[in-house]
Amino acid sequence: MSLMDRAEQIAVQHMVASQLRNRGIEDAAVLRAMSRVSRRAFVPDASLADAYSDQPLPTAAGQTISQPYMVAAMTELLCVELGQRILEIGSGSGYQAAILASMGAMVVSVESNPALTERAREAVARAGFGDAVDVVQADGTLGWPSRAPYDRIIVTAGAPRVPRALQNQLAVGGRMVVPVGDRKRQRLYLVGKEQSRCTPTPGMGCRFVPLVGVDGWSVAEGD
Ligand code: SAH
Repeated sequence: MSLMDRAEQIAVQHMVASQLRNRGIEDAAVLRAMSRVSRRAFVPDASLADAYSDQPLPTAAGQTISQPYMVAAMTELLCVELGQRILEIGSGSGYQAAILASMGAMVVSVESNPALTERAREAVARAGFGDAVDVVQADGTLGWPSRAPYDRIIVTAGAPRVPRALQNQLAVGGRMVVPVGDRKRQRLYLVGKEQSRCTPTPGMGCRFVPLVGVDGWSVAEGD
């Protein structure tokens, strides 16, 4: 794991206390992961001063790194356990994948944008999680079948519905967290799977960039 200097440690502790604990994030493993992984390793140089601010940040290609609170809330909903196999759709910067890896999970993270895939892979390696995270380029609405089933699936782009392939690739007893709604606003769904049936439960409102793909939004559909 990349080492933080004193100033960064203070910024991280402040973020964890004011943005996470204060808003009800309680899971000790999530709070520990959020305090240990350097967000600076994942944000573009132009946003370094804002690495721990209470907002999403831009990545290349008009995409975003989620706000720290959203990363923590989704991770808490996922209930990550040591050694689990996790599929992430939408690597973006690679920060969310690194948080999951720091909790002892093995992560396959799928990104559709080739330039972002390359950067996320580099950032994850630089942060010391290269062995636990595979960043691959593909249309994540189709999942990543060769390593299925997954104990956990996390989608970090807004979907029009829960992609069928992801339901199929979720292990029985598994959990999936996925924002579903229109292109601008969504609700965070927690999807459980018992036998072969997936059951979605709606949660808080959220705003993610659109999940664009075969079982997602099409590029041409209006903005
Ligand atoms: N989890 C990221 C933030 C993701 S932003 C982080 O921690 O930084 C959403 C990402 O989803 C964008 O990078 C976008 O390119 C990607 N995306 C959109 N549609 C996709 C698809 N069908 N498959 C894989 N990635 C997709």
